[in-house]
Amino acid sequence: MKELNDKELIAELKKLKGRENQIVAELVKYLSEVDRRKLYLELGYPSLFAYCCKALGYSESAAYRRIAAARVYSDNPEVYHKLGCGELTLCAVAELSKVIKPENKEELFSKVEGKSKQEVQSVVAEYRRAPEIKNKRQESVKVRHVKQSEAPLLSLESKSAEQPPSKSYSVTLELSEEEMALVQEAQAILSTRKVKETLLKSAKRIIQQHKNLQVKRERRVVNKKIVKESMPLVEVDQSKKPSRYIPADVRHAVEIRDNGRCSYVSPDGTRCCETRNLEFDHRVPFALGGQSTVENLRLVCRGHNRMYAENVFGREWIEQVVARSA
Ligand SMILES: [Zn+2]
Repeated sequence: MKELNDKELIAELKKLKGRENQIVAELVKYLSEVDRRKLYLELGYPSLFAYCCKALGYSESAAYRRIAAARVYSDNPEVYHKLGCGELTLCAVAELSKVIKPENKEELFSKVEGKSKQEVQSVVAEYRRAPEIKNKRQESVKVRHVKQSEAPLLSLESKSAEQPPSKSYSVTLELSEEEMALVQEAQAILSTRKVKETLLKSAKRIIQQHKNLQVKRERRVVNKKIVKESMPLVEVDQSKKPSRYIPADVRHAVEIRDNGRCSYVSPDGTRCCETRNLEFDHRVPFALGGQSTVENLRLVCRGHNRMYAENVFGREWIEQVVARSA
């Protein structure tokens, strides 16, 4: 590289930037297809977000941006070209994901082209405010269905890339309008510092309660085992009607056996890391005569529960069932 003169060095750098834009566009395109096929489930991850962070090694905020862009791309394929030629940055596309619709996309693209992150954020904020004002004028209140994002509720970003991440973070909360109004009301009464303290206290209390609950569950399972071992054998009434009900001791035994974590293991041995919102899944489905026993039950995350159901009943059928119950 030392043999390059200044002009050549800058020319090479520009070429690299062009290639970088192209790679980002390709990556967004591929990510969108992985998302459509839900391949992360088969590979042992509960969500595309978990896959991006754990398997691809992205930071939470980097993963969030790429996934948001991939979802914008899936509805607006022209984003591929705009990213590739540098008309739009990844950050801009991720920001646009919050407000983009078929009727405003052309206008949005032209407004954010070549703009800085702050400028794009202010354009997006305008579009977010517009429907709020419109809604206030309307007398009838409509229920708004918020599309669940796979990104976490909180996205963390260190304030400066040069600072060690443990020193300072800014926290972005994805809130609905109602939740935001609640936070603003709290801020009007308390200072921002007090609101932060209250949130942190709640988080500490929840963690402590969760730990206490786990200890209690473990004790209960041990006690039940002792009682069961000392009891005489009772014949089970096989004529009883099958039920979806899962007795508490069965639930506890499954939770302990599966370590309170999704039990799915991918063909290459990756175990799903999800520990939140777990569900009990019948290995032999209940609809096919599967019983609610410890052996036939397993803890799974929502994504893997659905994957198992799709494997048995077919994706189309499960989509119809979900659509009917929505
Ligand atoms: Zn899982």
